[in-house]
Amino acid sequence: MSGQAKRIVILGATGSIGIQALDVVAASPELEVVALSAHSAWEPLVELARAHGVTRVALADAQAAGLAAAAWPQGEVHAGAQGLVELIIDSGADLVLNAIVGSAGLGPTIVALGEGIDLALANKESLVVGGELVTALAEATGSRILPVDSEHAALHQLIAGERTFGAGTIERLIVTASGGPFRGYTRERLAEVTAAQALAHPTWSMGAKITIDSATLMNKGLEVIEAHHLFGVPYAQIDVLVHPQSIVHGLVELCDGAVLAHLGCPDMRMPISYALHYPERAELHIARLDLAQVGSLTFEQPDLDAFPALRLSREAAVAGGTAPCVLNAANEVAVRAFLGGEITFARIAEVIEGALDALGAEPLREFDALFEADRRAREIALGSLA
Ligand code: NAD
Ligand code: MG
Repeated sequence: MSGQAKRIVILGATGSIGIQALDVVAASPELEVVALSAHSAWEPLVELARAHGVTRVALADAQAAGLAAAAWPQGEVHAGAQGLVELIIDSGADLVLNAIVGSAGLGPTIVALGEGIDLALANKESLVVGGELVTALAEATGSRILPVDSEHAALHQLIAGERTFGAGTIERLIVTASGGPFRGYTRERLAEVTAAQALAHPTWSMGAKITIDSATLMNKGLEVIEAHHLFGVPYAQIDVLVHPQSIVHGLVELCDGAVLAHLGCPDMRMPISYALHYPERAELHIARLDLAQVGSLTFEQPDLDAFPALRLSREAAVAGGTAPCVLNAANEVAVRAFLGGEITFARIAEVIEGALDALGAEPLREFDALFEADRRAREIALGSLA
């Protein structure tokens, strides 16, 4: 890239993706981070800001923002939901990386796209919850949505050289899944698993929520919905394939039977770097793939009976409207309750199914309907925990 560095805002900077993104930016002279945000962890946020020469931050939690402002008079600290909006709008950013976890990421996604700023999107929940409206907004303002999720970054690269669906050459997208820590478990065996076991992911080190989503396979359900909106593909043409080694990140099947695959070591800095540098590609010093050492790559069908979250997410996806928003909100409540030791692993899917049954799918015309569906789904899910 020539000329000035690309100016980047990192939302969710203290999280797993946020920290790795800061690593990528620090190693790239053509990228500059201009603002950071977090929920309430103000001390780590201020420390990161200092370490990366950033003076502008936002904390979603207003009390934490007050503490940060008092302890760091040299910094510019924005507070609350409005503070996040100011951070995005005032920063003069070329790109916003949304690495917030959960549907809390929807608001900032809307703001970045509404401002016409390109969006590197790790927060898949934004697309699950409001895919139609979010992609329509991006189209209206001309912002690009660049996937950070590894499978979608892989598919983005595979699709780039092909004419797409409909009259095009692509027939099917395949999203791979590691299968999580409980791959091969029966329903009975899953009844006894603990949060500590669920948090021990075999191939990826990630935040707690997505790690539980990987154990239930809800993460893959969310990713099918994400792929549908990112690439405009009908659900019938998106498959999930379990691949425990996490070396093949995505596959694209073409009209002549050829299948293109994207491979690499499982390291999120690769898709993060792809999204931050796009359309350029930058050198990245991470482990190189040694296939002889890996030896074999294996594949299997997901077990929909043992992992009902994947089935539920497909049903909500096909129902459309507010159903994916309800699915997501109920899942967030259930995952939090499971992590807090309030419910068993098997109850997670039951809580989600209960909320979907109670609320159904309402048609969706404006963002406000999403915030309302999210609120009602949380209420019902919380009520069903006891
Ligand atoms: P994490 O829990 O490690 O970090 C979340 C970040 O979001 C933190 O900085 C936190 O302060 C902030 N945050 C949390 N709640 C917030 C709120 N209400 N308002 C504002 N900020 C809030 O999560 P993570 O693993 O980095 O995941 C972030 C997103 O990226 C998720 O949507 C996840 O699905 C997606 N993702 C993560 C990975 C991974 O390897 N970690 C891979 C693919 C996709
Ligand atoms: Mg993924």
